[in-house]
Amino acid sequence: MHRRHWFQSIAALAAARAPLAGMSPAPEQPTEGLPLEKYEPRSMLHVPESTISRSRFPVIDIHTHLSFSTGLGEEKPPHENAKPEEVLAVMDRRNIRMMVNLTAGYGEAFLQVRDYWHTPHPDRFLVFTEPWYNKAAEPGYARFQAEEIERAHRAGARGIKVLKTLGLYLRENITAGPLVKVDDRRFDPMWETAAALKMPVAIHTSDPLAFFLPIDRFNERWEELHAHPDWSFHGRDFPSDAELQEARLRVIARHRKTQFLCLHVAEAENLPLVSEWMDRHPNMLVDIAARIGELGRQPRTARKFFERYQDRILFGTDAVPHGEETPQQILNDRLYEIYFRFLETEDEYFDYAPALVPPQGRWRIYGLGLPEEILRKVYYENAERLLGMKS
Ligand SMILES: [Zn+2]
Repeated sequence: MHRRHWFQSIAALAAARAPLAGMSPAPEQPTEGLPLEKYEPRSMLHVPESTISRSRFPVIDIHTHLSFSTGLGEEKPPHENAKPEEVLAVMDRRNIRMMVNLTAGYGEAFLQVRDYWHTPHPDRFLVFTEPWYNKAAEPGYARFQAEEIERAHRAGARGIKVLKTLGLYLRENITAGPLVKVDDRRFDPMWETAAALKMPVAIHTSDPLAFFLPIDRFNERWEELHAHPDWSFHGRDFPSDAELQEARLRVIARHRKTQFLCLHVAEAENLPLVSEWMDRHPNMLVDIAARIGELGRQPRTARKFFERYQDRILFGTDAVPHGEETPQQILNDRLYEIYFRFLETEDEYFDYAPALVPPQGRWRIYGLGLPEEILRKVYYENAERLLGMKS
């Protein structure tokens, strides 16, 4: 730019900024940047906004945490049970026919959770059992664990839940030593028992890909990881996402009669890869829990995925009655409305969680507008089949 023109532009800019006499002062303008945590942009798009207060078909939510089991090396579960009446009220309002409480624990605690949720409401709440990780270092664990699965099955457990504890937290001496791998042979009798008893295995392995990367300015979940640095699996002795996924696939390949429900779409950021896995392993299914934020920002790819694997995708939310810091998971009416809107409508650019700032990453989602035939399968038919509820 010519020097004279440059001076003229500066002068014009200064004149435009000078407050005119008699006018109210201009609103405060940040001059030194805006901290990310204070940025709350409001969309100016004028697009349809649907409210789906009841799902098109009665839902089985395959993935909830109505209670939590005791953590590694700990003695007591982390918090009190929610109240069944409160949860049932949300279910009735939103057309949720049944919830599966995956984390009902093991041993004596499992029986208590069963008696609290399932026994008084057998058509509304089912319970899964979990491995006794705190005993994994003891001799004879493999057989013990398989027998405990049989015992839990007799007591009413409908499946097995394997948290990401296996692969990312459980160590040879429970909380110390090398990490135990997902395909560790100690669990083989457990996977086989699951097949024999027709108990599906709901298995969460790895985590969002960004959790394995440095928490730096390139990380798409910087805010989430900044708020929860302990969710990062970057560095130290953690395996890579690929190592974890490959170990799980070896388990799935080795136990072909066992049904593995890979939670959180197995790897929601990479649907082409998940498709390869699904094609290779007919005993692999997925749920969509806590991943509508990933599916909904790739709606065309996601829609094709739903069309292709419509018989192996299950509705789940990861709903937790407590947990203020994870708004995308809190069990309430809003949570279900967002899931229904995502699956049933073609609404554009809406929040995947009830929060002012998207809690997992700064993006919004697009509805899939699934046809009734696929909705019916995803909402309940696939779950009914997996849980053996139909003859
Ligand atoms: Zn979960």
